Amino acid sequence: MTSILIKDINLNNTTSDILIEGNRIKIISENIDFQADRIIYGTGKSIIPGFVNMHTHAAMALMRGIGEDMSLMDWLYNKIWPTESKLTDEMVYWGTKLACLEMIKSGTTCFNDQYWRLPYAVKATEEMGLRSVQPFVILDLLDESKSEKLKVECEKMYELSKNWCDRNNFSIGIHSPYSVSEKMILWASEFAQKRDLLVHLHLSETKGENEESRALHGVSPIGYLEKLGVLNSKVIAAHCLWIDDEDIAILAKRNVKVVHNINSNLKIASGYKFRYKELKAAGLTITLGTDGCASSNNLDMIETMKTTALVQKGWRGDPTVLPLDELISLATVNGGRALGIKCGVIEEGYLADLTIIDTNSFAFTPNINFLANLIYSANSSCVDTVICDGKVLMEKRVVEGEEEIIKMVNKLYKKLL
Ligand SMILES: [Zn+2]
Repeated sequence: MTSILIKDINLNNTTSDILIEGNRIKIISENIDFQADRIIYGTGKSIIPGFVNMHTHAAMALMRGIGEDMSLMDWLYNKIWPTESKLTDEMVYWGTKLACLEMIKSGTTCFNDQYWRLPYAVKATEEMGLRSVQPFVILDLLDESKSEKLKVECEKMYELSKNWCDRNNFSIGIHSPYSVSEKMILWASEFAQKRDLLVHLHLSETKGENEESRALHGVSPIGYLEKLGVLNSKVIAAHCLWIDDEDIAILAKRNVKVVHNINSNLKIASGYKFRYKELKAAGLTITLGTDGCASSNNLDMIETMKTTALVQKGWRGDPTVLPLDELISLATVNGGRALGIKCGVIEEGYLADLTIIDTNSFAFTPNINFLANLIYSANSSCVDTVICDGKVLMEKRVVEGEEEIIKMVNKLYKKLL
């Protein structure tokens, strides 16, 4: 079993040594005497759990900047979906690699994805060394004639996923209640429940979606899914931006996991009044995501934490609404909990998914409050070293293969335009 010893690093305001054996954190102690295969010196640095990005579309890194200043429906129907019809396996592979590169460089070690051409997205993720949950995505645009083909493909992909490496888990993606037929929502949900799989969907993202659902089904999008009986603790719902008290009660009753994606919501002008306080009071697991690079333009979880807090404080008129320790939990431990993966925490026995922050810069001077400096003062360039599953993916900001990824994406994106 390979081992890594991290020496003299700041962990929660205490100088500690951390021994990693295989893919787990083995010992955390003041002074570990052990002949490890690799030693990382942590003087002048702090360690945090790797971030868990709970909602993204990784390969869309290839489409960064493709549709600017558009509303969600205009952007989806007139820009994104037509562009995606031109995607190739090679593009998804390199687009996912670019996303993984960005995630590593900004301290993320695990992501909950939703994208097409799954084998190529998974291949890229496996090669880059990150942890992920990758779904087979159901999107029939309410055309039930597509059902049989989707079912066969989903079964096939599920079987193929049994050969994926341990870091990648298979899930079911239901694009959204407005873009998937009732028949397929029910089928996909049953498929997932029978196999104990997570279901990842977009839910109550815009005001228009909410109004349309009420006109069509007589209830909100959350009420509609509740009526179909498909909400449960394995459902990960991205956005949940336009929700009333009744919706919150349903989410809480079914223990649905919620993902807030503030940068994407702000940029597409879907809204910003995410009801953090009420969702928290209802006992829900709340997590953070970036959404894809075509809407939020980056995959930076430090920036996501900052915007989340600023907007919450602003619209609530309450600076205490989202304290620092809660904010970092949304981006780490809550994600691990929602995915059912033992990550997002630095404790003995947990997966060794770790991010080392270089505090030797103006952003951390003076370092009176490390978390405040990390979230409000620094940016992702402070991420120095990233370890995922006990393997070093980046040390001193060097990621293997970075130049090739950038070269390939710069060649491929032109074919999309
Ligand atoms: Zn999304």
